[in-house]
Amino acid sequence: ADLLVVPETDIIKALFFKGIAANINQILDIPTITMVAEEFDVIVTTAEAEAEAKKVTEMLDAADLDKLQRRPPVVTIMGHVDHGKTTLLDSIRKTKVAQGEAGGITQHIGAYHVDVEMGGQVQQVVFLDTPGHEAFTAMRARGARVTDIAVLVVAADDGVRPQTIEAISHAKAAQVPIVVAINKIDKEDASPDRVKQELTEYGLVPEEWGGDTIMVPVSAIQGENLDTLLEMLLLVAEVEDLYANPDRLARGTVIEANLDKSRGPVATLIVQNGTLKVGDVLVAGSAFGKVRAMVDDRGKRVDKATPSFAVEVLGLGDVPAAGDEFEVYKDEKEARAVANTRVDQQRQSRLQQAMASRRVSLNTLSAQAQEGELKELNLILKADVQGSVEAILGALQQLPQKEVQVRVLLAAPGEITETDVDLAAASSAVIIGFNTTFASGARQAADELDVDVRDYNIIYKLLEDVQGAMEGLLEPEM
Ligand code: GDP
Repeated sequence: ADLLVVPETDIIKALFFKGIAANINQILDIPTITMVAEEFDVIVTTAEAEAEAKKVTEMLDAADLDKLQRRPPVVTIMGHVDHGKTTLLDSIRKTKVAQGEAGGITQHIGAYHVDVEMGGQVQQVVFLDTPGHEAFTAMRARGARVTDIAVLVVAADDGVRPQTIEAISHAKAAQVPIVVAINKIDKEDASPDRVKQELTEYGLVPEEWGGDTIMVPVSAIQGENLDTLLEMLLLVAEVEDLYANPDRLARGTVIEANLDKSRGPVATLIVQNGTLKVGDVLVAGSAFGKVRAMVDDRGKRVDKATPSFAVEVLGLGDVPAAGDEFEVYKDEKEARAVANTRVDQQRQSRLQQAMASRRVSLNTLSAQAQEGELKELNLILKADVQGSVEAILGALQQLPQKEVQVRVLLAAPGEITETDVDLAAASSAVIIGFNTTFASGARQAADELDVDVRDYNIIYKLLEDVQGAMEGLLEPEM
């Protein structure tokens, strides 16, 4: 009350309207404080959250901190099938790149950048070329964090659809800010307001309605309003504080790789810190190599790549995997040694991960709860029908959430898919299935990634297990 500068009774009242009967001597937990403060238009942050935000990217070291420079945002386009993701990517590229470029023809390397003029200054935005949350989350499941901003495409004539909801869940789970592109506004039956209305149900409230989500009406096909969309991306980027130190050896992530018949292993690397140069010795995943040549997204040979830019690199001895990290080494011997140990390590760590650290199951979570280490229980819920989803969500909310909060990353009717498994692996979540089955490939993926999938057909039993895990009381599995 002191910090909010309101009478204590107002806080107690606000809590009461949220169904929490509290008295003045009670200590509230962070989520409750956050919720109440929102009522008074105050945003709550914790020291931990601040520290996390300051870390900018995991690719930064302490030594970089005084040499930081702004870097362009890296953007992924997500949304329901046929809502215009590919058209939007193509259209932005065509309108912004083809004109006046030497060569003109662009090359698909997995990412491209565009120049955007704003306030008399030219800035860049980098787009990852593979749309959809599947690719996004598959990378994240491998530990890669490349995307800074997600553009959620929603067709104005179709509204929010299942994959729209999935995309929102995946972006939120990754804590990546969302900018909404309401597409196909050229169509007669387009209804942008309906889209906005529907999105509010998923926590995305447009700025003009008092929320903080930027929503831009566009027509990907007619190229309408794309400039505004790009400017909005730059605005969000500014708030996100995207920095890197170009003045050091590069590190980043592999976004594509394949074996080319004539050129050998070819990998597209996105630089997340430092500057990558021709002649650099690097290790990507377990592949070792010396950069022989680099080609940018305009098909041009370049001799360096700065933060946020992607280049196709020739010279690796092996084909790394998308999502692998890469790092440049000063010393070739050291790089070779790292690559060699990586090969063994990868094999080992796959085993270890499966057995220990990454293994998240309701039982291990329960054990953590018992130790008082568990703060959040991440769940993914798939059920037979929407009605079950809602019933279970309602019941989960009723569970006492004192020490441990249930966080439902995704709740939807349908089979358990490989993408669900990736999301679970990337977010340390447990999948709860209710009267549903595995889609093809999903069970195998769950085994490989060691994701705990629980099957229920009685809600009561499901709740009992979740509550048991939250309280650290779940009996070890036989
Ligand atoms: P994706 O599955 O999300 O990648 O969707 P696509 O980009 O393949 O687009 C699906 C269909 O919608 C295609 O037939 C596009 O031509 C069409 N489309 C995409 N954007 C627009 C738009 O702004 N207006 C109209 N009228 N059609 C669009």
